[in-house]
Amino acid sequence: MGKVFAILGDIHSNIEALDVVIDDCRAQGVTDFMCTGDIVGYNASPRECLSRIRELGCPAVMGNHDFYVSTRKDLSDFNPAAAAVVQWTRGQLKMEDIFFLRSLPFLRTVMGFSVVHSTCDNPEGFGYVFDKFQADANFVNQKTPICFHGHTHCPVVYERLMDGVQILPPVDMLLSPGHKFFINVGSVGQPRDGDPRASYVIFDQVSKTVRFRRLEYDVAAAQERVRKAGLPERLAERLAVGQ
Ligand code: ZN
Repeated sequence: MGKVFAILGDIHSNIEALDVVIDDCRAQGVTDFMCTGDIVGYNASPRECLSRIRELGCPAVMGNHDFYVSTRKDLSDFNPAAAAVVQWTRGQLKMEDIFFLRSLPFLRTVMGFSVVHSTCDNPEGFGYVFDKFQADANFVNQKTPICFHGHTHCPVVYERLMDGVQILPPVDMLLSPGHKFFINVGSVGQPRDGDPRASYVIFDQVSKTVRFRRLEYDVAAAQERVRKAGLPERLAERLAVGQ
């Protein structure tokens, strides 16, 4: 029987959003999970999200927040709010969590598709793909016809054509055989496309279709946890507006 994958990422320690997504996956007939990285950062439930990902047996790749939380590297690349939460998260995690994060690969290839947090041309550099030129640089190094990614927190599809790259909106679609796709699955725990609902993608490996899912969750409860943990107020506020 063919596999139906849920591809989800940028969970960012938001357990309220993650649990709603997992329930939806069950209801939608998902058989396998893959994570595009950034399990932690920004919000207040890092341990809960890590244990959920491990319980699911969900293979993940390394996101920039996962990397910085687990390696104690200098945080000058981060904005002050993000850096404050990386520090806070380091203090919340147990050694087993740190080892788990540190062991994540930057890129995974499974059954003909790949998963990366940022881009295939430099997965360890955590560059952002927002336009056709950045997507084109990715395609040069994308070894599989289909690759899923995250990092910008905005769902979108890049398709490589003979003469360049086409940008497609995140709507359900058939991935034409022979074409190359670089698909951003959006963010479970901190969407930034103006829609506060949790985002993920269902990929049916047999029919080669992708479905973009958006789900309401208890934003107020996630905000409450951020505030109780003493994390920057702006991180609670942005959840309500999807920015
Ligand atoms: Zn992220």
